Amino acid sequence: MTSLAERLSDVDARIASAIRASGRAPSEVHRIVVTKFHPASLIRDLYDLGVRDIAENRPQEIAAKHVELAGDLSDLRWHFVGQLQTNKARSVRSSADLIHSVDRERLVDALVAAAAPDSSELLDVLIQVNLTADGDRGGVRPEQIEQFLTYILDSAPTLRVRGVMGVAPLDERPESAFARLADSAAIVRANVPGATWISAGMSGDFSEAIHAGATHLRIGSAITGPRPPRG
Ligand SMILES: *Cc1c(COP(=O)(O)O)cnc(C)c1O
Repeated sequence: MTSLAERLSDVDARIASAIRASGRAPSEVHRIVVTKFHPASLIRDLYDLGVRDIAENRPQEIAAKHVELAGDLSDLRWHFVGQLQTNKARSVRSSADLIHSVDRERLVDALVAAAAPDSSELLDVLIQVNLTADGDRGGVRPEQIEQFLTYILDSAPTLRVRGVMGVAPLDERPESAFARLADSAAIVRANVPGATWISAGMSGDFSEAIHAGATHLRIGSAITGPRPPRG
């Protein structure tokens, strides 16, 4: 059995070598640790190892862990990366610093409605791009990105689009899926110059994602070890 510290430093070494091989600058690439299904104590352990960006994919779980930890670990940044139902928008808006999985107009509306009434606080969001061929998963089809972005820019003054997010399908080489994601990222950036984030790359494909321009890697099991069964 390896320890958490060993797995973290092993992954970080592999990230560093992919960055070198791709000729990119280390400052362009950020590692987010996905802690879903693990207890809040794992987040404390990661924090002690220097991790400041963590991600969850279930509304109830991010809310509960946020309540438990945000007081003590106030500089932790909370990312939400899961499918989000509109009736959970309020809860997730209050616990997450950034939502990677914004993919439909009704969700945009719900997130806007969930802003605190007299607050001008912006919520950072990424547009999730559907990289599958059949469109059965979450995410906006690449050909609809520009239209969806326009909807956000016109109707969601409290959301700040930072870029795109994608999950490579299992039945395709990650290189080609991430190339499509990079095309969608370029469309978003052409309309919103500050939207430079490309959230891509998981335990099995983060090197390919780095080569394809990913700026934010979402890495779970390679760092945390196997996830406990879904609770
Ligand atoms: C679970 C999850 C990850 C991390 O997956 P690993 O294969 O454990 O690294 C990344 N992104 C999303 C959206 C996830 O749900």
